[in-house]
Order: sequence, then C-alpha cells, then structure tokens
Amino acid sequence: MATPQSDVERRKQISVRGIAEIDDVNEIKKTFNRHVHYTLVKDRNVATSRDYYFALAHTVRDHLVSRWIRTQQHYYNIDPKRVYYLSLEFYMGRSLSNTMINLGIQSSCDEALYQLGLDIEELEELEEDAGLGNGGLGRLAACFLDSMATLGMAAYGYGIRYEYGIFAQKIVNGEQQEEPDDWLRFGNPWEKARPEYMLPVNFYGNVIDTPEGKKWVNTQVIFALPYDNPIPGYKNNVVNTLRLWSAKSPVDFNLKFFNDGDYIQAVIDRNLAENISRVLYPNDNFFEGKELRLKQEYFMVAATLQDIIRRFKSAKFGTRASTRNSFEEFPDKVAIQLNDTHPSLAIPELMRLLVDVEGLSWDQAWDITTRTCAYTNHTVLPEALERWPVSLFQNILPRHLDIIYKINHIHLENVLKKWPGDLERMRAMSLVEEDGDKRINMANLSIVGSHAVNGVARIHSEIIKDDLFKNFYELSPEKFQNKTNGITPRRWLLLCNPGLSDLISEKIGEKWIVHLDELQKLKAYAKEPAFQRAVMKVKQENKLRLAQILEREYGVKVNPASMFDIHVKRIHEYKRQLLNVLHIITLYNRIKKNPSAKFAPRTVMIGGKAAPGYYTAKKIIKLINYVANVVNNDPIVGDKLKVIFLENYRVTLAEKIIPAADLSEQISTAGTEASGTGNMKFQLNGALTIGTLDGANVEMAEEMGRENIFIFGMTVEEVEALKQKGYNAYDYYNSNPELKQVVDQIQNGFFSPNNSDEFKDLADILLKYDRFYLLADYAAYIKKQEEVSTTYQDQSKWLEMAINNIATSGKFSSDRTIIEYGREIWGVEPSYEQLPDPSVPRELALKDN
Ligand SMILES: *Cc1c(COP(=O)(O)O)cnc(C)c1O
Repeated sequence: MATPQSDVERRKQISVRGIAEIDDVNEIKKTFNRHVHYTLVKDRNVATSRDYYFALAHTVRDHLVSRWIRTQQHYYNIDPKRVYYLSLEFYMGRSLSNTMINLGIQSSCDEALYQLGLDIEELEELEEDAGLGNGGLGRLAACFLDSMATLGMAAYGYGIRYEYGIFAQKIVNGEQQEEPDDWLRFGNPWEKARPEYMLPVNFYGNVIDTPEGKKWVNTQVIFALPYDNPIPGYKNNVVNTLRLWSAKSPVDFNLKFFNDGDYIQAVIDRNLAENISRVLYPNDNFFEGKELRLKQEYFMVAATLQDIIRRFKSAKFGTRASTRNSFEEFPDKVAIQLNDTHPSLAIPELMRLLVDVEGLSWDQAWDITTRTCAYTNHTVLPEALERWPVSLFQNILPRHLDIIYKINHIHLENVLKKWPGDLERMRAMSLVEEDGDKRINMANLSIVGSHAVNGVARIHSEIIKDDLFKNFYELSPEKFQNKTNGITPRRWLLLCNPGLSDLISEKIGEKWIVHLDELQKLKAYAKEPAFQRAVMKVKQENKLRLAQILEREYGVKVNPASMFDIHVKRIHEYKRQLLNVLHIITLYNRIKKNPSAKFAPRTVMIGGKAAPGYYTAKKIIKLINYVANVVNNDPIVGDKLKVIFLENYRVTLAEKIIPAADLSEQISTAGTEASGTGNMKFQLNGALTIGTLDGANVEMAEEMGRENIFIFGMTVEEVEALKQKGYNAYDYYNSNPELKQVVDQIQNGFFSPNNSDEFKDLADILLKYDRFYLLADYAAYIKKQEEVSTTYQDQSKWLEMAINNIATSGKFSSDRTIIEYGREIWGVEPSYEQLPDPSVPRELALKDN
C-alpha cells in the first residue's frame, strides 16, 4: 500500500520530474481505459486493483512496441556485431516503474492515474518480482541488460523462463520456511511468446561414426519455446531483447506409450519433459551436481546457439547462407559472454554445431569458438565450482563428452609442450579430473575455450591469476582481465530514491543518469551546511518511509532517529552475518552492564535468503531472530538497540531498504567476496560502509579515500599468513573476555532458553571449524563499530562523508563496466545515438531533419 500523498507533495514531485504533457496524459488515460475494457474485460464497477495494474502495464507496454520493433529492424539493417549475454539467472525485479522511467513517461502516467482517481504507487506494488536469480550474479546480468540498452549496443540476454523463481522466504518461529514463487499465476504482461521460433534440444542417445564424421543419434527431443522480454534503454528509443526459453514437449513425445494404448499416460508424461524450465536452483555460490540442473544448462545453451547461428546466417549483408567460409567472420559478428561456468556448455556445443552440423574442420571450429566466447569468473570458493561427474555427461550428453575429451587432449599437449614432463601440472590443468569419481572441471573448460577470462573486481582478478587459475595464467597470460562490477544508476538511484535523485539533479543537472562520473561535482558541496541539511532531510524521509513499511507489514516499531545499520545479502558463512551478530550481542552486553552510559541508538537490520539445504545458514537466521527477541524485549535496552530480520529480501525490498540506510555492512573475509554489488548500491544512496578490504570495497575505498569509509580487519595477505601459521580460534576466545562472553552465550543457550543446545553447532563452528576467521576479525570489527558510532554523533561530519560517498560512486555504474567489456572483450563500442521516436510520424521526423 502506498502512503497517500498530499496534493502539494504530488505536484512538487511531478514538477521536478518533468512536466506531464497534457496530450500525453489524455492519450494515456484513453489507452488505459481501453485496456480495462478490451484487455481485462472489466468495467470500473468490477475492476480490481490488480486489473488496474495490468491495464497500466499494458498501456506502458504499448509505448514499447514500436521502439522494440524499430530497434530490431535497425540492427538488421546495420548488421552490427551482436553481443550475447548467456546467464542461467536474470534477477530483474519489477518492470513497470523501470519502463516508465526509461521511456520518460513517468510523470504523464502519474498524472493520468491521478486524474482517474487511482494511486499509481499502490498499483506498482501489485507487480510480482521476476525473481529469476539468487543474488549478485543474477542481478548483475539484469544491470548489464539495462546498460547495454542504454549504450545502444546490439545486445541480447539469453536465459531460462523459470516457472518458479527464487522461493519466497517466510519466517516462522524464527526459522526460514520456503514457499514456491508462483510469479506467473496472474500472467506476465511484459513477455511475448514466440512459438514460431521454437527450437529442438536433444538429450541422451549415443554417438556413431559415419563417413561424414561423428553423429549424435537416438536422442530424446525437448522443444525450447522462446519468450521475449523488452529491455528499454534510458530515453534513447532503444529496446533490446531478453529471450527466455521455456521447455515444451514435442507432440510425439512418448508415442511409444500411445502405441501401447496408454494414451492417458503418454499425455500425462508430457509434463515430465517440461520440468526442465520449472524451477530456479536456489543455491548462491554453491554447486549441486543434480541431473536436472545439467539439463537446464544444456537446454539454455543449445537453444541459444541455434538462435545465434540462425540470426548470423540471416543477416542482410554478405553471403552467409550456410557456406562454410562464411563462418570465418562469425567472431567478428558474434560475441558470447558466459556469466560464470553455468552456460559453459556453449563451448562444446558450438564446436559440435560447427564440426558435426556445419562441416567445418576441428581447427577452424576451435579458432572460431575461442575467438567468440569469453568467460566471467564469479567466485573462488571451491564448493561453488562446477565439476560435473563424467557418468552424468556420458548419459545425457555423450557427444559433448567426446568433444571435451578431444579439447582436453589437444590442451594437455600444449601444456606438455610448455612444461615437458610436468605431470603434476598436467593433472592440475586437465579438464577431466581423474582422482575419485571422474569429473569435468567446467572452469578449466571455460578458460581453455575462451579468448578472455575476467574476474569481477581488481582484487578478485588478481587472486584468480595468483591462485585459483595460476597455471592457466602462466600458460595464457594474455587471456586474463579485470572487469570491476557495476550497478545501473537508473534502478539503483533514479527509480528507488526519487528524493535524492531530484536533489542531485537540482544541484548538477541530469547528466549523471547516463554519465555517473558527473556525481564528482557534488564533492564541492560536501561541507556546505544547506546541502548537508537537504541530504539529511531526504535520508530522514526515506528512513521514515521504511519505518512505516516495517510497522505496517511486520508490526515492528523502529526509532527513525536511530542509526539504520543494514546487512542485506544472501546468508552465507563467508559473508559473515554471524560476525554482525557477535557485534549485536556485544552491544547488548555493554548496555546491560552499564545501562546509564551514553549510547548511539541503532536499529540493526539483517536480511537475506539461505539456500534451503544450507543447514548453517538457516541456523544463523534462527540465531538472528532469537537474539532479536531477547534484545527487543529487554526494557533495560529500550530504544537504544533494536534488531530486525528483514523477511524475504529480494530486488523490490532492496529498492526500499537501501535508500534508508545509514550504515552498510560489507564484512566478508578478505579474499572471499569476488566483488559484491550491494556495497555499490549503498554507496550510491549515501550510506557509509563498514567493510573489509575485499571485493569492490577495495576500489570503493580508493575512489572515496580511506577517510570516508570504515575499513577494518585482515587483508588477503594477513588471512593467508594466518592460514599458513594455523588458525586457532581459542587464541582469540581466551584472550578477549567480552568475546568469550558472547560465544558462551551462543553456546549455552542464553538466547534459546527452551533448548540450550539450539546454537551449539554455531559456537562449535566459531571455535573449531571456522573457515572464515570470524574471531580473528572480531576485535577490529568492534573497535571500528565504536568509531562508526562516534562519527554518527557528529552529524555534519557524517553527512560530509555521505556526500563524498555519493560523489565518488561514478566508477560503479554498470555503464562503465559494459563500456570496458565492449572495448576490451567484445570489440563493440557504445552508441549514444538516439533512435527516432516512433511516436513522431515519419514525415514529420523527415521535415525536422
Ligand atoms: C544487489 C543484490 C544482491 C547482491 O548483494 P551482495 O551484497 O553484493 O551480495 C543480492 N540480492 C539482491 C536482491 C540484490 O539486489
């Protein structure tokens, strides 16, 4: 539910966001009413709020259609190099508000709906999130699509249209419960099914030798049905496509049963085949070697590559219609970016298509494949690296296994050429792991099959060269690159924080929206009292709005004058939510010990989903809720400290929380968080960061200067040295009484009086099995938090730092990231050219020229 706005507030909002044109408003009202009538088949006596949401979505969608068609015609006409971003995840969130903003029709829609007596913010809340992602990796893909469209690149996202996205998290008695995310229940107004472009994908079967070479035969076929989703650029009339595949049984599926007479069973079994696109695997940074997941990965890749090759062949210029020579220019016309190894079957699949289907020689095909593909690594955690059992491959993708073996054979010859007799290195670099059950190492395959390999922040890219992929770096140093992640300023400032956006635009104009470096100009005002007050007012309003949401939706009251200390991201041991809990308990004990001491009030909010099978992460959620229950109900504590677990953290919730944050928690063990992007969203919205020198925090600190960020804890080198020396958590536990008390309370059931063993496992991890060195960073973290509290008391200092944070966040625009991918990996330049506005009749447009 949206808060009712006063007429004055509403007018003001509209005036800063551009004036609604009276003709546009009237046209939108007409179209909206037409959709209520013809699309929703309702009149205003029976239409529900959801009907009005759909009518508005269709109205906005209408504005996309001509731009979408014209953009695709334009790409066909100029035949530029196409960029294909392949990802098993696209964490898109909502589309309505983003589309209105990028098309520049938001104020007209606001006004039209107001004149119709409807609350547009209430309708926006009825849109389901497209939650086709787990966390940072999937959200990165979504930000990249926005940037590629805004930069006018001929880019396509390719992925899976999961019928169920990331589960909805419910907290019941302090524990996480998962509910299926039935996001398509009411229909999806943004997508367009394209059954005419359906493509077959093969599984199972066997490989035979023929005079024309190897053939994959006796396969089971599943069809891939594409759904196109529009990706509008920011006010440039570009609309790119995100094509998501849905699994569809062929009509003759299980015909054998039919012939046996069991027609009913044959029809029922059609659903089984369609399970491929049923549900997103809910793991973040964790490999689960399930057959269905391998099928999803191949399904996406096989359908996508057929589509890419079809589009390549059907280009307007050249004579590419299926002549072997024409494939020589494939890498000049096609760039394929692999978002982690999840789509890495693209490498053997492209080889199969070029060799078995198109009849190219192995060497030609390999040259084309490696020049086309590039691989982005997203993690160094060993448990996250994909290593598929050969037995699974043999069964599901026998031809691909052959191809991988041949790639490996040639690769290992090259390794031996460089390091004669170095069998250990050969073993370590093999695509096929021979120890234990044989497995295919998909990261090794991706490196060998790509011309570029990149990490996602400078420190991460160094670690993969020095450590994870050291051997491959020594073999092919020219492949290794860095591309520091970024976020789209359209969603993560303009959309989610209109107050701050307006304030910035009043001060420095609107160029920052597409040139985020412009924010540098705010540095000049960091010490200006009037600007500080204005920034504070916006933050206070955002905090108040969040407080209202928390009270309305969760029934919790928070003190909006307290510091909002926020830790939102997937729950994972490496992200160290437990370290945050150690701090909370420390604060609690200090208040209890000395209730009359001066204390800077805090509201600590932690949110995030645990993978359903991740026992420790689920325990951490339970501990947070149990600690919250004790802290929040202790009259001695009162208003000084509140702890809230934010249920069901997702893109939509991030958009509400981040603009209200004072403090951003980015406290992963140095060397474990590849980049992080949550960190960037907070910086852009004027929160200060407490963080380790990990991932992109390092570059954030460099951009803003160490005086504007709270950095604590071990560096990567210090973590490494501690590991070498041997980490003993008891050293810290025994020498720090405050820490000892906290761990003991977790251990002995202080927060779980009905079950003293409830959190023993967590205490055991902290003291005996901790891979992430929480106790080693505890003292430094507590000390830095004290500095945070002291600084927060000095409002002017805090605001100066906050403004410096905003002013130096320009580097972390995904526009910058995408320009670098374009220049240094894809061979594609941005085009800031505006496509013609299709609402202007062509003859008029011509006259204007
Ligand atoms: C940005 C984002 C993430 C990534 O957050 P990190 O702190 O970088 O792990 C995860 N989930 C959602 C919903 C996000 O918007």
